[in-house]
Amino acid sequence: MHYQFTYSTYQRPFRQPLKTSHGSWEIRAGIIITLTDGAGRSYQGEIAPIPWFGSESIEQALSWCQQLGDKITTAQIYRIPDTLPACQFGFGSALIAFDPQPSIAVSPLDMSALLPSGTAAIERLQALSAQGYSTFKWKIGVLPIAQEMPIWRQLIAALPAAAKLRLDANGGLTYPLAEQWLETCSQEARIEFIEQPLGVDEIDRTIELAQKYHTPIALDESVATCDRIEAVYAAGWRGIYVIKPGIAGFPWRLGDFIARHQLDVVFSSVLETSVGKTAALQLASTLKLSRSMGFGVDEWFSEIAR
Ligand code: MG
Repeated sequence: MHYQFTYSTYQRPFRQPLKTSHGSWEIRAGIIITLTDGAGRSYQGEIAPIPWFGSESIEQALSWCQQLGDKITTAQIYRIPDTLPACQFGFGSALIAFDPQPSIAVSPLDMSALLPSGTAAIERLQALSAQGYSTFKWKIGVLPIAQEMPIWRQLIAALPAAAKLRLDANGGLTYPLAEQWLETCSQEARIEFIEQPLGVDEIDRTIELAQKYHTPIALDESVATCDRIEAVYAAGWRGIYVIKPGIAGFPWRLGDFIARHQLDVVFSSVLETSVGKTAALQLASTLKLSRSMGFGVDEWFSEIAR
């Protein structure tokens, strides 16, 4: 099958830089692709890379789009290399959109809302709780633990009884610091999980931690792409997988692996536009995932641009 192919780039500034243990991120740059079939039907896909998370860079994605010219075939899409997982997702999701898709209905309030780092989190938690959100995520490993623990205590105090809090270390903790967080969290049932406490490659050590503590552990950076998800599963990880479909690769490959192995999965945003988000939610709805998804990020943008 042949498709006409066009693309455009976009840049969306964050209202405030997104601070993680990887550093500060100020502008989300991405590519919207459009495929048009012989009948004149058009569907879009989004390429929203996060290179420091394990995907290609925006430049690599762009040069792949540029070398295509104005046409692409289904076979070419299937041949997008595994080194371009965000391109695989963008083209793959545009391709499957030509088939009838189930309608999706996910309330934004069912999403996990990302809190700002530091003390700003407390006020935001209160405002978002009042709006009806009940699952929150807060970044740890950003400040020294002696500063973060007191903020954590204030957050827990402000957290409604039925709400849940996810702590995301972005791989920034040492083993002893991870133990300290897990020890502290073990007395608090509202901690849904600690995300990526250790480095990307420290799977065995993370498995060891998961066996020692009551608080569940999720992997995120370690399971950024389909290749990594499959490798980590083979290495014995049976905890939670935080997966960003936008950079994981072909949606059908991801969906098949999750369903076949019944992975405990949280789908999460790559701070994409509604094009990529809709495709990710579409996949989530076919997989019937039970945990709140991490797409509560709209308010991080000052404008909803393409
Ligand atoms: Mg994470």
